[in-house]
Amino acid sequence: MSNAYRLTLTLACLLIAPCLTSVAHAQDTTLPVLSQTEFNQCLAGLRHGDSFARISDDTWKHYTANLTPDGSILPLLDKQPEFTLPAWDYMAMLVDKERVADGRAAYQQWLPLLRQIQSRYGVDPAIVVSVWGVESNFGKITGGRPLVQSLGTLSCFGRRQAYFRTEFASALQILQNGDIAPDKLNGSWAGAFGQTQFMPSTFLHTAVDFDGDGHRDVVGSVPDALASTANFLHQAGYRTGEPWGLEVKLPAGYAGSSTRKNKHDVAYWIAQGITQANGKPLPPNLPDTGLLLPTGTQGPAFLTGKNFDTIYSYNASENYALAIAQLSTLVGNHNDSIGFVTPWPTDDPGLSRAENRELQTLLQARGYDIGMPDGLIGAKTRVAIRAEQGRLGMPVDGRAGQKMLAALRAQPGATH
Ligand code: CA
Repeated sequence: MSNAYRLTLTLACLLIAPCLTSVAHAQDTTLPVLSQTEFNQCLAGLRHGDSFARISDDTWKHYTANLTPDGSILPLLDKQPEFTLPAWDYMAMLVDKERVADGRAAYQQWLPLLRQIQSRYGVDPAIVVSVWGVESNFGKITGGRPLVQSLGTLSCFGRRQAYFRTEFASALQILQNGDIAPDKLNGSWAGAFGQTQFMPSTFLHTAVDFDGDGHRDVVGSVPDALASTANFLHQAGYRTGEPWGLEVKLPAGYAGSSTRKNKHDVAYWIAQGITQANGKPLPPNLPDTGLLLPTGTQGPAFLTGKNFDTIYSYNASENYALAIAQLSTLVGNHNDSIGFVTPWPTDDPGLSRAENRELQTLLQARGYDIGMPDGLIGAKTRVAIRAEQGRLGMPVDGRAGQKMLAALRAQPGATH
């Protein structure tokens, strides 16, 4: 499978495009108008390619006869994030008190199911719940763009057409198989869909029918979605019973290995002077691990094992994998402190979704149009933040951090 657009998808919700179906995306009059004639010619050419050989004529005609290209997608394909999200911002949004509480509630609500899934696939239920929480906010945010239209468009226009043609063929295969109803096959602009946010080709390889109704329905069935996630991790090499790793403390002046790929046994790390974050010795049963330093030797440090790597394979980002791993630890215990023992190397930490909503509400009160305060910092909110940063004499970078929030709280009634 390819994860080429998985990172983009998660970050897209934070940096580029609204992920909610209720947010209109057709208001921008600068969107490219794509040629229907060119699109039809492209589709006709695709029909005869090997990728679509398993799609019947009936399926093909049914879903492509009246298909129109979606011009709003290409700018998203080409747009780069304004900046790389610092690790502390990424973690603050993905692992906040709200998601930990929601994760604990979901864990309790679905525990009998999670135990069944664990007995079949061997994956820690807390990790399965955490993936669910980050990928779709426990099934609540799954994207509203029709996959056939999005992937058809991306198969014929823009970069990476070969990649998207495979996904387009896979989406048609899903419909032909009858796993998901046509009106439910909606997702992100790049084609990740359902509660697991699988790409269609991943779905074909990985999704399972766990509730036994004959359909692999990762959109409408929580049992199918959670079991499919567990199956993905299982196929990626998850090792039953192994911890993902833990936060650790480096000795002063540490200058050794700093990649999670360079794995060693616990004796090696003990000899390096590394301890648990609280200073206690490393647990003797730690599996082979590598050292993950998201912000170098000055921030939190982690020893991570094979199971961390399987989470990484779900979405090729170490910050993503760390968010899932940390969330699973918090879901599985009752520690109220959600930060790491070693603080991030910044004097301006990131905001939780609740704090983002407060920031958006404060900006709104100042007269900025930021859309609905949804806790996701999109383009409109960044424009408003930049304006306020300029007015307040702060560095103008459009970033939502604690300093910006504090400045707005100090003058809640001011209008720009
Ligand atoms: Ca099913």
